[in-house]
Amino acid sequence: MSRISRRRFLCVAGAGVAASTLPQVSQAAVAAATQPLHADTANPCVAISSANGIESVAVARGLVLEKGMRPVSAAVQGVASVEADPNDMSVGYGGLPNELGKVQLDSACMDGPTHNAGSVASIEDIMHPAQVAELVMDRTDHINLVGPGARQFALDYGFKAEDLLTERARQIWLKWRSKRSGDDYLWPLLDTEPADPALADEPRPWGTIHCSVLAPSSDVGCCTTTSGLAFKIPGRIGDSPLIGCGLYCDNEVGSAGATGRGEAAILSGGSWLVVERMRAGDTPEQACLYALKRVAEQAERGSRWQPALWKDGQPNFGLTFYAVRKDGLYGSASMRGAGRFAVADAKGARLENCAIAFGNK
Ligand code: ASP
Repeated sequence: MSRISRRRFLCVAGAGVAASTLPQVSQAAVAAATQPLHADTANPCVAISSANGIESVAVARGLVLEKGMRPVSAAVQGVASVEADPNDMSVGYGGLPNELGKVQLDSACMDGPTHNAGSVASIEDIMHPAQVAELVMDRTDHINLVGPGARQFALDYGFKAEDLLTERARQIWLKWRSKRSGDDYLWPLLDTEPADPALADEPRPWGTIHCSVLAPSSDVGCCTTTSGLAFKIPGRIGDSPLIGCGLYCDNEVGSAGATGRGEAAILSGGSWLVVERMRAGDTPEQACLYALKRVAEQAERGSRWQPALWKDGQPNFGLTFYAVRKDGLYGSASMRGAGRFAVADAKGARLENCAIAFGNK
């Protein structure tokens, strides 16, 4: 039996507000997403994402309402601005590289009505892997393409190859490399400590964007896109391109996705589990919390051989699930401490607080 007590497994939820728009976002799409629609309760249209997707949820919802776009495509288009943003160092262009200094991206998407999916993993030089994943879904009889095959597939379909390593990401990687022990790279690399706070000592950075969309037709779709774990072993694939792990949807139930420690989402089949819990009657938030508890129990079992993952009687890593149900209910929960997620519905686009599985000690 699990040693995780109900007392240690906290459930805290709340709400907050924030909003902004990126210049490349169609104003009409944003307007459609942020204007209250009173008919929304009968036929809800909801987009939910990780906190870096406040523009993405507005755009995705706007594309569904304004253009009648299918939810999966709206999610893929919604995350495009984050993939192109050099300041988001966890996704697409500007993402932190692998241990050899090469940016390798993972992405997948899933379409509720056809129960089909596409994914690319460890793809190099392509800024919008989510769009390539959508092509894999629509134009092939496969689900996953990886590495050079995925890159060549993208080139075949007209994507251009470009260097995704920004100068800032390169500096952060050089600093990380020079601080490893047991090799001949030295720090400081520069004469003085750089002013950029991203170059200051900090825990290994992480991030991703997941976006799930519910259309007024009750169809769902989703996508997840990431540069993955910073400084990963070349070829490492996280949960983001794996169906059932970093994302999953079922048109009879709803849609879900994950960000955070990909290995934990993979080992638990996390996003699949969230959707199945919603099928069994959980609210999205309850389903996310249930999946986190399952992950925690699994991590506790593994903590003898990997003690870094278990500290003070709690999981010592971040993981967040996001979910939307067919009836328009949505929710999110994170493993440790405070977290935020983005949502756009009839009330507009905003950030809300994630429920918390384990409080910080
Ligand atoms: N889940 C991603 C991965 O493991 C990383 C993240 O979300 O931070 O690749």
